[in-house]
Amino acid sequence: QAPKAVSQSKTGALDRVGAIIAVASCKGGVGKSTTAVNLAFSLAAAGASVGLMDADIYGPSLPTMVKPDSPQVEFVDGGIKPLTCRGVRLMSFGYVNESSAIMRGPMVANMLTQLLTTTQWGELDYLVLDLPPGTGDIQLTLSQVVSMTAAVHVTTPQLLSFVDVVKGLDMFAKLNVPSVAVVENMAYFTAPDTGVRHELFGRGHRHRLTTAFGIATSVAVPIDPSLCERSDAGVPYVVAFPESETAAIYAELAGSV
Ligand code: ADP
Repeated sequence: QAPKAVSQSKTGALDRVGAIIAVASCKGGVGKSTTAVNLAFSLAAAGASVGLMDADIYGPSLPTMVKPDSPQVEFVDGGIKPLTCRGVRLMSFGYVNESSAIMRGPMVANMLTQLLTTTQWGELDYLVLDLPPGTGDIQLTLSQVVSMTAAVHVTTPQLLSFVDVVKGLDMFAKLNVPSVAVVENMAYFTAPDTGVRHELFGRGHRHRLTTAFGIATSVAVPIDPSLCERSDAGVPYVVAFPESETAAIYAELAGSV
């Protein structure tokens, strides 16, 4: 699967990276990191070379969600070697600093820029950026450091989350980054005994979003307790259950970027 566009970092550090895909949400807890992880591993399953950068300095998720082959970070030639899991190259502030980050916005933005641009990503088809929630300092700094190829927005079916995703769509439009997909996470739950689908948080708004904003792809991801269990165990869901319906949904998402 070849990237559809070429991105280059404005510092030259990511010049051998094909497409940089931002996974964004305005709210925390909607499943953004879960989406970023499963998108990255779906792209890798399709044969692409992939990097995954956890851009959340305050609350890094990657160290919990993906258990690397070796947890030891190596500093080489003024750079940092990414950790790996099944060939996917990984970087997170949580790998280089185990204590929590207590710092102001501009410092965080500097720290993130340094981490992103000193990581030796090498040649990649895709770099998936798991952005922190919101539309603030960090997102704007990142847009100055790298040319993002496309954005994927993660939301839940509630109206409140819909209102927020519109803010994210607006921000990426202003940054001239095309929004290519909306993920409505926790869209329904299928009862294991009856097979009946329950839309626990109501009927979502993804079709309204895709029509109003001209977004090519929208997918609905179910509530699946094993998504949560796999994350907690450090194994991406699409790696543990490659034949599942949910893995097929993530594969469709991977085809959209
Ligand atoms: P965010 O990055 O938006 O803060 P996370 O990806 O960390 O959100 O997800 C928050 C929590 O919800 C995690 O415990 C995760 O495992 C769980 N979760 C996310 N998506 C689903 C889903 N579709 N079904 C079940 N649990 C989910």
